[in-house]
Amino acid sequence: MNNIFTYTGNPFVDAGITAMLVWLDKGKPEEIEDYEVKSLFSELTDLYVQKSWNKMMYSVFPNSKLTNPSVKDKKGEYDKLLNELLSEVVTLDSHGNCIACGKRDSKRYFTKTQVPLTGTSDFINFFSYGNGGADYCSACALAIQFSPLVFYKCGNLVCLQSNNKEVEKIYAKKCKSFIDVQKATKEYTGCNDEGYTNPVSLTKIWSRAKSVYAHLPHVTASLFTV
Ligand SMILES: [Zn+2]
Repeated sequence: MNNIFTYTGNPFVDAGITAMLVWLDKGKPEEIEDYEVKSLFSELTDLYVQKSWNKMMYSVFPNSKLTNPSVKDKKGEYDKLLNELLSEVVTLDSHGNCIACGKRDSKRYFTKTQVPLTGTSDFINFFSYGNGGADYCSACALAIQFSPLVFYKCGNLVCLQSNNKEVEKIYAKKCKSFIDVQKATKEYTGCNDEGYTNPVSLTKIWSRAKSVYAHLPHVTASLFTV
């Protein structure tokens, strides 16, 4: 089944989609097949339970099974969540109440445990109608699980969003190379990290990035700190 994903304008969903496109060597979000997404689960869970990656999950997916010390089989539990989300995925429709894609209805509410920068379930003023979480469809929530692959470590973690999807892909390919080295050497260090320790350095990073992407027209980018 394809026609599951489409760019949404939500930085975390789009970052996850871009990561999947690069990892699967695909062109458009709509071309991604459900079995291909499933084929990435093992790599994702392997990575997120590595000590350096797992440490970051406390700020990305707080209170999740990945970070709960009482959960012994973190890989198994996270794999279960990914498979549950995948089993709930349906193809894109023309409308829906998902706050990211707007093309499918949500099947459950999501909190900051599954979606970065979202409130907790008891933080009811944060959500529409006082619901215990945000309305994301399971496909968008699943895409978000891939977004840490392309986060940038800079003191805090940063999520890049650009109006030019090729720029996002070029950047995601750099992240994949960074991770491929970690897998090959079995020396896991976490998200893409060029040694910057302070988000103030982002201005330097961006001015350097602009020179790299200068040949691409009308590129803008936003950075979201996780
Ligand atoms: Zn959605």
